[in-house]
Amino acid sequence: MRAEVELNLVEVFWSAQGEGPQVGRSTVFVRFGACDLRCGWCDSPETWKAARQCRFEVDPGSGEFESEPNPTSVGRLRRAIEALAPRPGSLLSLTGGEPLLQPPGVVAAARIGHELGLKVAIETHGLAVEALNEVIDEIDYVSMDWKLESDVRWAESSAVGPDFQTGHRAFLERIRESALPASVKVVITQNSTAEELAEVCRGIASIAPDIPLILQPVTPHGRVRERPSAKALLEHLRRCEDQVAEVRLIPQTHRVYGAL
Ligand code: SF4
Repeated sequence: MRAEVELNLVEVFWSAQGEGPQVGRSTVFVRFGACDLRCGWCDSPETWKAARQCRFEVDPGSGEFESEPNPTSVGRLRRAIEALAPRPGSLLSLTGGEPLLQPPGVVAAARIGHELGLKVAIETHGLAVEALNEVIDEIDYVSMDWKLESDVRWAESSAVGPDFQTGHRAFLERIRESALPASVKVVITQNSTAEELAEVCRGIASIAPDIPLILQPVTPHGRVRERPSAKALLEHLRRCEDQVAEVRLIPQTHRVYGAL
């Protein structure tokens, strides 16, 4: 008998997508627990460890939640998504934490999304190629990060993965093979250098030149006090445009109006 899939989740809620090319779209977010990276600017460090409790938004956009212990069942996740009454064609975002640490959970969540007529997007650190292979047939859109070593390291508790350049290149090659719609996101801080971004651009241009590069200025939050200057951001945009066909500078919009 096949074992029932269990999920470690942090929260399930509805909002407008705040980042990237899908910005503004009506979205149900399923935030998975645990992450094996430590980004200096992470805006959800509460997701770094597997969560004891998962909270489910009661009504869409209400900000009112009920909490239950993890692990969560597939049936409970389905009820949580249905309670948010997503419109057919809107987005189901599988995010984290790092969702690809739980491939069976990603597959289960994506199937629920498709049964409800939703488009399924995954937001990932873009390094877990083997896990991507397990879920890729269930996903409609991939938003992969490309980490800059000036701000990101592997968690001390993780089985350390590949260096970021090697890992991201392999991940992007798999996306290109699949022909899935995708984008690459780089979070820009005051530490980000032109050399680091040039390496990202070389990777995209050589592997998947049609995939858009999203430059996302860090949002001051927690330990991050400063944002990069507008001048620095625009200089990064110009330089990246010289190497990648489609580059967009898009900040986190949900922070502007105070959403989660
Ligand atoms: S990969 Fe995402 S969840 Fe993990 S530390 Fe970085 S920003 Fe946070």
